[in-house]
Amino acid sequence: MSLAQDNIRRPVLGGPRHDWTRAQVRDLFALPFPELMFRAAQTHRENFDPAEVQISTLLSIKTGGCPEDCAYCPQAARYDTGVKAEKLMSLDAVLAEARAAKDGGASRFCMGAAWRSPKDRDLDNVCAMVEGVKALGLETCVTLGMLEAQQAKRLKDSGLDYYNHNLDTSPEYYSEIITTRTYQDRLDTLAHVREAGIHVCCGGIVGMGEGLEDRVGMIATLASLPVHPESVPINMLVQVEGTPLAVAGKLDPLDFVRTIAVARICMPASMVRLSAGREDMSEETQALCFLAGANSIFYGPKLLTTPNPGRDRDMALLENLGMRKME
Ligand code: SF4
Repeated sequence: MSLAQDNIRRPVLGGPRHDWTRAQVRDLFALPFPELMFRAAQTHRENFDPAEVQISTLLSIKTGGCPEDCAYCPQAARYDTGVKAEKLMSLDAVLAEARAAKDGGASRFCMGAAWRSPKDRDLDNVCAMVEGVKALGLETCVTLGMLEAQQAKRLKDSGLDYYNHNLDTSPEYYSEIITTRTYQDRLDTLAHVREAGIHVCCGGIVGMGEGLEDRVGMIATLASLPVHPESVPINMLVQVEGTPLAVAGKLDPLDFVRTIAVARICMPASMVRLSAGREDMSEETQALCFLAGANSIFYGPKLLTTPNPGRDRDMALLENLGMRKME
């Protein structure tokens, strides 16, 4: 065994490590698949019940018309994807969706708005939504774009549990994907959210034409944050006609599984979420992802604007695997 391989075997003493080097993360990706899966599954069961999956529902509360240029996103105004710009949903309509999500078994209700960053008036409306959804007994998460420190504080005061803001990819590949905000902008928003005392939901997307080294860089960056994100969504690119990434080559599903496994090992106490891309994923690949340590999914027929497996299909899959939802 190489020294680097020995290093990555170091047990988690006194909480998760934050000093992952790229070489160590690279070594994990390079492990033989059965060895990687074994280590990921071992880490998973040291921290969680491996039969449990946390279920979140995601609602687009303000769809389309976004001024940013994220190359994967059907909601960017500059791409012709057929997504129409809509206004912010009303409070009543959002609460009706949240009630339905709770009745459907969700424990967390996530609300996404296609903004560069929220305006003050918008934030007032979102804070009212957070308060209303919390009053239904659901955890709340929002994703609204970049935040200033005082905006994060306002959201915290409204009772917000999680803020989602993804790093998307490695620092090196980032400029191939987004040019209208920097990697540092993202890190700044994450710092404001953390300082406000809100839990962080932060991950990325694979299958965007990036190389292995970019997946290494993305996980190493996430795992080196001063506090690991409590929730780490790992998305498989959903190729949408009209976006620049509609023609990206397909990623080998096993490379997706490897990314989940490495995320689980490097961030052992985080919820690793199997996010976008499940609609096109075989049940066998999803089962491997659970084995690799994924323990959270989005549930419901739509993920913002892209399709997601129906609730019945997900329930049947969990039942088939002998798994259950986390209370
Ligand atoms: S990912 Fe978010 S910020 Fe980027 S274009 Fe889409 S809605 Fe806008």
